[in-house]
Amino acid sequence: MIDVRWKAVLFICALSVISLFLWLITSLTTALLAFVVGLLIYLGSHIYWLHALQHWFQSPDIKKIPEGSGIWEDVFITLLHYERNNQSNQTQLNSALERFSLATQVMPDGLVILSASNEIDWCTPNAESQLGLSLTTDKNLPIVNLIRDSHFIAYLYNEIYDEPFKLKSWRNPEIVLEVQLIPFANKQKLLISRDMTQREKVDIMRRDFIANVSHELRTPLTVVGGFLETLGDMEGAVPDSLKSYFAMMEEQTLRMRRIIEDLLTLSTIESNTQDPDDNEIDMASLLKSVQNDAIGLSQGLNKTKHKVYLEADPNLNLNGAVDELRSVFSNLVSNAIRYTPTGDKTSGKKGEIFISWALQNGEPAFSVRDTGLGIEQQHIDRLTERFYRVDRSRSRETGGTGLGLSIVKHILIRHQAKLEISSELGVGSRFSAVFPKARIVMKK
Ligand code: ADP
Repeated sequence: MIDVRWKAVLFICALSVISLFLWLITSLTTALLAFVVGLLIYLGSHIYWLHALQHWFQSPDIKKIPEGSGIWEDVFITLLHYERNNQSNQTQLNSALERFSLATQVMPDGLVILSASNEIDWCTPNAESQLGLSLTTDKNLPIVNLIRDSHFIAYLYNEIYDEPFKLKSWRNPEIVLEVQLIPFANKQKLLISRDMTQREKVDIMRRDFIANVSHELRTPLTVVGGFLETLGDMEGAVPDSLKSYFAMMEEQTLRMRRIIEDLLTLSTIESNTQDPDDNEIDMASLLKSVQNDAIGLSQGLNKTKHKVYLEADPNLNLNGAVDELRSVFSNLVSNAIRYTPTGDKTSGKKGEIFISWALQNGEPAFSVRDTGLGIEQQHIDRLTERFYRVDRSRSRETGGTGLGLSIVKHILIRHQAKLEISSELGVGSRFSAVFPKARIVMKK
């Protein structure tokens, strides 16, 4: 196909040659007249096809693209190709959209697209039924007007979406949903809702079973423990040759009692759906008593003590349930003591524990750093699982139950806090409980 510019040049050249020829055989006036008339016809044809193009653009239809002539034939052929490509792209896009829409309809999870200002842009039928929305009436309405759960609103505005959020359906409290927000594009959010009712029921059954078994075992174990203790204390009741067996029996009963107590604590915390009793906690004095307990524990475990340092911001207090949080701090500090060999000059070990309470990037954080055994990286993510132990014998020797960090994790979740663990084998570990800013109380 010849370039349109060349076609125009060719036409002007041809017209000029004809005019020159006319000049030769007639006169200059006739030649000029013919040239001007030729140009006018050329211009007229351009105006005509331009108008046809403009007219076509008003209601574009591929079947009605004008055929054109001269340069315009090429222009309209190009337009036809372009439209055909466009149409085939459109068909592909439509079919992709249709497949996507069918897939989202059969998906068991509900999907909602939220705008940057948290208004509903689009949602699937499952999201409509799970969250009680209607795309036709609720489009462009703020999601907080429709899901009014205060915890959900806090989750939405806190903008920390690492973990999914458990939401009880307000229309039917039997239904439990898991909601996860995922930011994408320009501050838009994808909300995924999942029906967890069945899993929640199984979870409740498991928790009840553990709680019942633990409860049933507690009484007989207390009785056995009591008898063993009485017999051990009675002069001559236990022959000397059996005394060591008695001591072992007493030790094992005590261990089982501790496991049962921890299991009961864990199931109580897990099944507690109420918010913690929030009160201002005087952190400096709470941590002082945790430090004293740690020194006591260290003396009980070893002849030589650990050095336990405390650095707490005296003006920084915390809003939370004091009994639960005391158990968190004590658990982390007692782990630090139990997994840190005491200082001794020959081995070069320091046996030091550092407790700190301060703001960390604006968030209040409780940290325990030790100079102990340390933990290999591959274990760190699993430490909060029930009964997960890196070193079984060390845990048992020091009276561990394998449930301490699970308890810590659950209490922290109840306080919207997170547990951060960093460790280096042979160097030491750092466990930090980082609380949300909203829990800060500054001392007056
Ligand atoms: P346990 O009662 O066995 O201490 P936890 O749940 O408190 O159970 O801890 C789980 C495991 O994590 C422990 O068995 C231990 O292997 C490891 N661990 C916890 N704290 C520390 C620490 N400060 N240093 C080294 N290992 C630790």
